[in-house]
Amino acid sequence: MSVRLGIVGGGFSGVAAAIHLLRQTDAELVLFERRSTVGHGIAYGTTAIEHRLNVPAARMSVDPESPNDFVDFLRETYAHDDPSAMVPRAWYGAYLQHRFLSAQTQFPSRLQYRPVEVTEITRRGELWKIDTADGMECVDGVLVATGHGPVNVPTALRQVQASIHRDPWTFAAPSDASVLIVGTGLTAVDMLLSLRARGHRGRLVVTSRHGRFPRPHSLPRGPAPCVWRDPTSLVDAIGQVRQQLREANAQNLPWAAVIDSLRPHTARWWATFSVDDRRSFLAHVRPLWEIHRHRAPPDSLAILEAWQQQGGWSLIAGPMTHAASVADEIQVTWSHHRDRFQHVLLCTGNSGNPLHQPILAALVENGTLRMDPLELGVQADPHGLAHPDGLWVIGGLRRGDLWESTAVPELSRQAAALPAAVAAWKAQRP
Ligand SMILES: Cc1cc2nc3c(=O)[nH]c(=O)nc-3n(C[C@H](O)[C@H](O)[C@H](O)COP(=O)(O)OP(=O)(O)OC[C@H]3O[C@@H](n4cnc5c(N)ncnc54)[C@H](O)[C@@H]3O)c2cc1C
Repeated sequence: MSVRLGIVGGGFSGVAAAIHLLRQTDAELVLFERRSTVGHGIAYGTTAIEHRLNVPAARMSVDPESPNDFVDFLRETYAHDDPSAMVPRAWYGAYLQHRFLSAQTQFPSRLQYRPVEVTEITRRGELWKIDTADGMECVDGVLVATGHGPVNVPTALRQVQASIHRDPWTFAAPSDASVLIVGTGLTAVDMLLSLRARGHRGRLVVTSRHGRFPRPHSLPRGPAPCVWRDPTSLVDAIGQVRQQLREANAQNLPWAAVIDSLRPHTARWWATFSVDDRRSFLAHVRPLWEIHRHRAPPDSLAILEAWQQQGGWSLIAGPMTHAASVADEIQVTWSHHRDRFQHVLLCTGNSGNPLHQPILAALVENGTLRMDPLELGVQADPHGLAHPDGLWVIGGLRRGDLWESTAVPELSRQAAALPAAVAAWKAQRP
């Protein structure tokens, strides 16, 4: 007998999971998404052409078994034919929507799309009850694909409400306004590019604790032929990486090729680390790891560098110590500097802590789900099964177990593994 599954979240992970489950199982699906669009999620709803993927098109297929799927879509839809290009993310959003709609057309009786917020997931007898803003559904199993939670707000800014913009994707300010961008990651790069494209003339300051921007991609290149062995500790892991970087340098290979060659090993290495090593990694290594591992298109960085040299924006590295509303502005203090801005834009990333998402917090509180010791995500088996009665998690929620569980190449593999995981679970049901 076929099972009925609920998928909570229709970003990349929810859509990819639905496509695989429709094709490879006979399950009936109900997909819930609270945004007005499906397939866009946090990353692919932007319409700005300057917001680009940071992964080459050839590695962005929703289906690892058909690696050319996205490249084919680009050729058919945009007459674009470069698999190594980092194309606009809006094109990727269009691709995900297209593949989702095709799946809906192909399997009309097995896929129900509910554009509504899920407010609660509870176990009721043999079923899971999914409460929504407009009703409820009962299903045999649930996949939680809700991604990360709300935006991280730096401590210094927590008491200030006025003019703090938490959603960069809807940010708009007069072109002569003074703006402080908090964060120097990929989202900050996008925001600077957008402000420049809109002809922003007002004072623009970017700040983060370390002031480090993502490093540029060096394409076209593959991973270096490094030989890695499972580390005995974080110190051992760092020693291996340093050694391989030295060897690559001696052979004139780029450092990025060494970092990329670690990709298939990252989850296994993370699993070997003790909780103390993981904690040390988060405190000391993570900032460096992020900028070397999650890189930016080189031409985007070059544009921003030139704009900075022309005085378009400036950087303040160091923690903000205090912030307060003063008249219509926000006064921000660093250890050696104080300044006022009309707008503060948070590009600080979204919280991965499950407790920051109400539906997950309730499931953790009643013991249905368990978090990893560092509260990075939800504990699950290697296939994402987080509760034996059929509750799976995918994407950012698996960060505690896998560490790297963010980019499409990793997420598409998780989605592709779900049909087998659901079949195994179904076979064991009483
Ligand atoms: C700005 C940005 C750029 C990125 N660029 C790339 C890139 O170029 N290449 C790459 O590989 N990766 C990129 N990423 C990584 C990105 O996180 C993943 O590619 C992917 O978008 C994650 O998808 P997801 O579905 O797991 O999570 P999300 O995209 O966060 O989707 C989760 C969805 O669940 C919905 N949801 C949450 N709670 C509920 C609820 N209670 N009820 C109903 N719906 C709910 C949300 O509305 C959302 O649509 C980028 C990330 C960001 C933030």
